[in-house]
Amino acid sequence: MFESLTERLAQIFRELRGKGKLSEADVRAGLREIRQALLAADVHYQVARDLLRRVEEQAVGKRVLDSLTPSQQLLAIVRKEMTALMGGEAQTLSLSGRPAVVVLVGPAGSGKTTTAGKLARFLSRKGRRPLLVCCDPFRPAASEQLATLAARVEVPFFNAPDPLPGMEAALREAKSSLRDVVIVDTPGVPPGEEPPELLAELVRKVHPGDVLLVLDALTGQEAARIAEVFLPLGVTGAVLTKLDGDARGGAALSVPTRIGRPVLFVGVGERPEDLEPFHPDRMADRILGLGDLQGLVEKLEETAGDELKQTAARVREGTLTLEDFLAQLEAMGKAGPLSQLLARIPGIKGALDDPELERDLRRSRAIIQSMTLEERRNPHIIGASRKRRIARGSGTSVQEVNRLLAQYEKTKKLVKKMRRGRIPPGLGPLNMG
Ligand code: GDP
Ligand code: MG
Repeated sequence: MFESLTERLAQIFRELRGKGKLSEADVRAGLREIRQALLAADVHYQVARDLLRRVEEQAVGKRVLDSLTPSQQLLAIVRKEMTALMGGEAQTLSLSGRPAVVVLVGPAGSGKTTTAGKLARFLSRKGRRPLLVCCDPFRPAASEQLATLAARVEVPFFNAPDPLPGMEAALREAKSSLRDVVIVDTPGVPPGEEPPELLAELVRKVHPGDVLLVLDALTGQEAARIAEVFLPLGVTGAVLTKLDGDARGGAALSVPTRIGRPVLFVGVGERPEDLEPFHPDRMADRILGLGDLQGLVEKLEETAGDELKQTAARVREGTLTLEDFLAQLEAMGKAGPLSQLLARIPGIKGALDDPELERDLRRSRAIIQSMTLEERRNPHIIGASRKRRIARGSGTSVQEVNRLLAQYEKTKKLVKKMRRGRIPPGLGPLNMG
């Protein structure tokens, strides 16, 4: 996600940091480079210009230039303004009404049906009782795709091919089966066309609390223009899909202000679990290469069993023992593609391309498993003879044990720093090798 933009921004900040003291000219040159990086990432030019203007107003003052860490201050300002640009506070679904109705609209192929399934899973896990409804009079096969997804996420399905009477029947069905959220998938609108009148009629009639516009992030800043024809339907928020394949970031940065509606969720893969609530501050951190520890912890909490939830809680508190670390390594096996999780940690990217990563993880796990409980809790007691025993037990070497212990120390420090929000981009001690 956002690899190319993140790399460029990290490079710009590395250079600024290397300079130490910054002159006004240095800052202006840095901002120009950031602007170019944003434009290359397909951020709308007006969005980039406004963002940089706000940053410049705050950055070219005495306080920043005279501070001991001007590049850090500049980074903090960029982070704050990027967060504001993407909507500031995270927004949620209104889910008003009984049952609450969420209608998904958008261009063909943007990911509406997939998102409907993801949303049903997301809401079920929050304790809601969704009903998935397919409202597509044009494509009979559309209902099969949603019915299959519904079965997969274990949510009931209702077909309403004739939208107006169909929706009435769906709402009756929801009430009688005590379903409290009705998620409605609608036909895709071909590029360049207006949404069919039927869609407007449906919205007028049903009064949904949420009308979500599903947009494909791969269309970049175009997404905002594509959105225009849908806004008159009473769109309340947007979902940006396919962020997993988006190396640029143009849509994430441009869409919220361009369409004047908050982004509520992002799609990060094809599976039902690949949906995340959109948090502008965390997204800014990811774009700036600051990692997203909060997101990592939530992912662990969501995917993992009870033991992992405790780990996540401890990571959150800022205490991380070797035992937790082991649990985390184990979790990575469980919590879906390892790379997806690791990508949230700054500096880990290089390691991801390493085919030996999985092997190293297995060895790390073996080393920790060869430790006694006491050693795991108090790694400082591990002296030379214990190291030899652990190496023998795990089929590794003393050097490898040393490396793991050093890596654990680094992780611990990194976690602490991240909690204080002070990780400079590009700083990457977390190398699994
Ligand atoms: P619809 O026409 O708007 O209903 O779009 P679909 O839900 O049928 O999705 C179109 C294609 O996009 C399918 O192949 C999906 O698997 C894929 N897709 C949807 N969301 C995501 C996502 O977040 N990431 C990725 N990689 N693919 C997605
Ligand atoms: Mg569809």
